[in-house]
Amino acid sequence: MSKDKSAKIPTPQAVRGTQDMLGDFADRFAHVVETFERVRRLYGYKRVEVPVIEPTAVFARSLGETTDVVSKEMYSFEDRGGESITLRPEFTAGIARAYVTNGWQQFAPLKVATHGPLFRYERPQKGRYRQFHQLDAEVLGSDSPLADAELLVFADQLLQELGINEGVTLTLNTLGDAASRDAWRAALVEHFEAHRGDLSEDSLARLDKNPLRILDSKDPKDRPIADSAPDIDAFLTGEAQDFFGAVTAGLDAAGVAWERNARLVRGLDYYRHTAFEFVTDRLGAQGTVLGGGRYDGLIEALGGPPTAAVGWAAGIERLAMLIEEPGAPDKAEAIVVVESDGIEAVGFEVSAVLRRANVKTDLIASGSIKKRFDRAVKRDPDTIVSLGLGDDGGVSVRVRSAEHMHEIEEILATIDWKAWDRR
Ligand code: ATP
Ligand code: MG
Repeated sequence: MSKDKSAKIPTPQAVRGTQDMLGDFADRFAHVVETFERVRRLYGYKRVEVPVIEPTAVFARSLGETTDVVSKEMYSFEDRGGESITLRPEFTAGIARAYVTNGWQQFAPLKVATHGPLFRYERPQKGRYRQFHQLDAEVLGSDSPLADAELLVFADQLLQELGINEGVTLTLNTLGDAASRDAWRAALVEHFEAHRGDLSEDSLARLDKNPLRILDSKDPKDRPIADSAPDIDAFLTGEAQDFFGAVTAGLDAAGVAWERNARLVRGLDYYRHTAFEFVTDRLGAQGTVLGGGRYDGLIEALGGPPTAAVGWAAGIERLAMLIEEPGAPDKAEAIVVVESDGIEAVGFEVSAVLRRANVKTDLIASGSIKKRFDRAVKRDPDTIVSLGLGDDGGVSVRVRSAEHMHEIEEILATIDWKAWDRR
């Protein structure tokens, strides 16, 4: 082996934008996922798994060439067979692709949920990674506004159960049906053309390709022009109005508070009707904790039949930063202390029996014998089980428990102590 320094595992340059997690944060992360898994079952969402790698066309076609994700952020490369593949930057496109290629139309309307890693070539900074993780929920093959409303009630319950609904607001808009959207778009282009000279460079580029996106520009130059642009309301068809009315009526019926945000848009043509974001004031500029909308034209763009669909996604890292540290469940926690040499195996059996009875248990059976009990006391567990050798040569057991004495003694009574005396 060469002693070349470059043979060392490169760090941190090569791991910029990725994140290792240990202990507290990893626990929070897991708690977010566990809560999501529990709540999605309550709402009848089936678990779905889609691959991390997809043909590049799946994302290029569905996300649109002009979006930041496709133009700047995709991890795309040629594999050994010369095919262009991409590490998924989001879930929706892969799920839509799977819906088409597997013939899942037969299950429509199909409610699915998933979570896992996503990849985007971002400029690494706090809270923004190149590998990050999302929760995702989608309803495919439903054109009912109740699907939108139910997805939002599901999202609201998830945030409630994570304990982060305080300071989080559901903001909602409608992009109407095709006719409403086209008419609104024309009016927006006219408005922005009239202020062409004052728009930021980015927004000038958007004016041709993606004028709706100017509405949610963060550039202070654009804000007054975006704020004075016409709302969609004047252009909504009766049908589009009814649809939005049914979504908000569903939310009101379920007791989920919402606010209209007429500037909330999705740039791509296949977005229809509902667009939404749960926003918080607790994360500075990165205010969105969960977002999504209806994408009735996407599956067709991927070569499938016209299919109405709606979904949302939420960044797990962001949710994990917002939640309180998940508390330990109110259960006995025990430390087993082996206070004599030669009976380590007893400690091992007792620990195994306690753990099988669902008691979180640590074993102290090494280090200075005199100090072992004190080490256990210092950690202030609910229960200490100390094991020693009695004068008669048998194993002696002492239990100290603050709250679970009876429960622990019952568990320990299942052990065949006599068997140890004879060994
Ligand atoms: P932004 O405008 O912040 O870049 P986006 O439009 O790219 O957001 P979406 O594609 O809608 O974000 O993703 C939804 C959620 O995924 C975000 O609200 C965020 O919580 C999370 N997310 C997106 N990109 C990253 C990233 N690079 N690192 C960590 N989380 C991310
Ligand atoms: Mg982004």
